[in-house]
Amino acid sequence: MTMREPRISNQQTIKQKNIKLLFKHIQAEPGTTRAQLARKTALSPTTVSTLVDELVQGELVQETGPANTHSAGRKPITLQINPQGRQLALFSLSSWGIHFELYNLALEVLDTGFFAHSTASYQGFAQGAEAADPDVGNDYMAFIQTLLTGSASYDPARLLAICITYPGIYLEREEAFTSTAMQVSLSAASVIGLEERLNVPVFLGNSSMCRAYAEKKVLDSPRNSISDLIYMNVCDGLGAGIIAGGVFLKGREHNAGEVGHVSIDYRGKRCACGLRGCVEQYVNIEAVTQRVRRALEETSDHEPLTLEAIGALCLQGNAAVREVVDDVAAMLFTAIYSTVCITGVKRVVIGGGIEQLGDYFLEKLRSISRETPRDTLARGIDISYTRAGLNGDSQGIAQFYLDHVFAICADDELLQKHAEQAAPA
Ligand SMILES: [Zn+2]
Repeated sequence: MTMREPRISNQQTIKQKNIKLLFKHIQAEPGTTRAQLARKTALSPTTVSTLVDELVQGELVQETGPANTHSAGRKPITLQINPQGRQLALFSLSSWGIHFELYNLALEVLDTGFFAHSTASYQGFAQGAEAADPDVGNDYMAFIQTLLTGSASYDPARLLAICITYPGIYLEREEAFTSTAMQVSLSAASVIGLEERLNVPVFLGNSSMCRAYAEKKVLDSPRNSISDLIYMNVCDGLGAGIIAGGVFLKGREHNAGEVGHVSIDYRGKRCACGLRGCVEQYVNIEAVTQRVRRALEETSDHEPLTLEAIGALCLQGNAAVREVVDDVAAMLFTAIYSTVCITGVKRVVIGGGIEQLGDYFLEKLRSISRETPRDTLARGIDISYTRAGLNGDSQGIAQFYLDHVFAICADDELLQKHAEQAAPA
């Protein structure tokens, strides 16, 4: 959340930039050598050698043995990220609770957990509830602290940052991270409190944008970087992470991509945002499951009703269930179509949990797209399910943190500690 901006000289800035550049190259190409790094980055072999030594001493990078070369003479040492060198703690917030993952520096899962905590009790966005609004920020930060400190794999000395994804936006004037899907607001003060208690940076990101970033990382190849993508995040609400022309659409008040508030009925149900008929009221996992349960009540007993079970009933030809799922697909397509028309982006990825409905739902979305009258604006819309998976939000924020936020500075405590040990007395 907060970023330290230490006063640093130009020389330090250049060093910081170069050391991060080397770290990124080693991350992208495990097994690379100092000589290869010098060629790739155009830094001098001496500079590469000095900075790589610092990365190794700081336990960010490790030497993995001689490279497999055919040339005679001394074998060069290969390098890779040191997985055990640092940790990242990821927390994904939803209406149902907090999903926790602890990653090492190679973004491998060390620990995972779930703390069930329904937001239904807060009613923070209900009309007239403002005065009674509890400080949900402090609650959530306390739950996060408990989950993290309770993990047997957590190493406070190696924790790089706490990253939190949530289905909402940051409101500068209110100094709060607010979510209409969860119907809660987390105060910036509560986040700063967590930073101070654990003495580690806390970084927050919108779930849909984090999922879009993870998806981009899966789809990117060395020759082709994805520059246009809409990630439709159907979870406890509906939001989109939009990458257009290679950049995230963020909006001045961080509100771009809030496509859940595209109205499909201006006289419809009043939404927490104030407008009527917002599509996220009808297209979210809870609403779909409840509608299917009601549709099935008359005929038989289906408990527990998971999205996979609903998808299976569709494939089996259950007419009542198909009717509901077809209607949900039509509503979601309306939001997709609106987003495509506004952004011009035609690569659409569906995820956030709803993809568990399976093939029937995806095929329905695609067929609506094909059948759109006149087929000019909708032509070529490419709809697919997420490849990054259910925990794409945690993966995405961890990748984004390492790529764009994590600065390897001279004042990094571990780097400094080891540099002091290595320095001659
Ligand atoms: Zn709304």
